Amino acid sequence: MTGRADAEALDAADPIAAVRARFALPRGVVYLGGNSLGALGTRTGAKVAETVEREWGDGLVSSWNDAGWWDRPLALGDRIGRLVGASAGQIAVCDSTSLNIYKAVGAALQLAPDRRVVVAERDCFPTDRYVLEGLGSTLGDLELRLAGPEPGELAAAIDDSVAAVLVNHVDYRSARRLDVRALTVRAHGHGAVAIVDLAHSAGAIEVALDDWGVDFAVGCTYKYLNGGPGSPAFIYVARRHHDHVSQPLSGWHGHARPFAFTTAYEPAPGVRRFVCGTPPIVAYAALDAALDVWDGVDVLAAFEKGQALVDLLVSLVDERCPELEVASPRDRALRGSHVALRHVHAHSIVRELATRHVVGDVREPDVVRLGLAPLYLRFTDVLVAVDALRDVLDHEPWRNSTSDPRPTVT
Ligand SMILES: *Cc1c(COP(=O)(O)O)cnc(C)c1O
Repeated sequence: MTGRADAEALDAADPIAAVRARFALPRGVVYLGGNSLGALGTRTGAKVAETVEREWGDGLVSSWNDAGWWDRPLALGDRIGRLVGASAGQIAVCDSTSLNIYKAVGAALQLAPDRRVVVAERDCFPTDRYVLEGLGSTLGDLELRLAGPEPGELAAAIDDSVAAVLVNHVDYRSARRLDVRALTVRAHGHGAVAIVDLAHSAGAIEVALDDWGVDFAVGCTYKYLNGGPGSPAFIYVARRHHDHVSQPLSGWHGHARPFAFTTAYEPAPGVRRFVCGTPPIVAYAALDAALDVWDGVDVLAAFEKGQALVDLLVSLVDERCPELEVASPRDRALRGSHVALRHVHAHSIVRELATRHVVGDVREPDVVRLGLAPLYLRFTDVLVAVDALRDVLDHEPWRNSTSDPRPTVT
């Protein structure tokens, strides 16, 4: 049995335990929703206020130059680069992940102009598929080849007709992690472009974009990167493609000389050409503050801690909540930083957990999803969460409820 003393010992030995104080978490809450919306940093509000009052209020339009607004998409991109294994100048922060998927796949199709097949996972995060279908209906001749869930099926779907392969590094529901390096080798071996969606891995587990050799990557900044609701996404474009790649949302912020106001589009050098229109400067301030939290943090130690939190949760669930099926891989190398627990009454369980101040979410049809964000969770929090889970299961709240009302956002 794993008990409080074990969890306390793990907290005492945690090399990044002090980072928790950089977050403004509500007292008494165990927050396991950080893979959906990351927690607020203690300095985020002040940084946003400073941007609004000083940069916007006082500086007005001159802040585009004087406060560095124009350069912010790439400056923030370089800060994220440290967390995802990308050297400087290859990441732009802009738009949403959905839009960046559109841009990356559009760019990939232009790199492989004689091919019209895109491989994606059958069970990918739905927006990835919706965007591919939308792009397909615009182009008219795109073939979407869905494969998986087994990695072998995905690899088998890649042949010489494929223009691009789009995969989710970590599955949003099960937490299964793909070997992106191997899939990239396979894609390149067939002349295809490799694109990875890092929404559930950036800031949570090790990502090595340059080393893996992927062509494009996209990801969210409001999940494990804690940028806040609506924080803009990022897009990585491997340096070898810079200066000859083009993307379909060619807006003026990606122009080489936007203030020349020329009639002809002339792409900016490098990843800058993937920025489309005027970016959300106030949201950038929140993201910048969220990235400050990583200053001085040993990134690999943080990811290691995330996996240790997952290990603890899984072993406690095995010991104490056998009616829940652990639906995430048990092998660290094959999973992300959240845990999927299956139960027919997942909705009831998550609602009841919330009344006990433990926040998780549900993914259809029957998955209780608990995110273990390494920067602000303690091992003792995991213990508290499992105590609450055990209590909920003992009370069987679904027995007295006739309906199962669901909120708009789950
Ligand atoms: C959360 C998530 C997204 C979100 O896309 P947005 O356009 O930022 O809303 C995209 N892909 C994956 C895999 C996700 O988990």
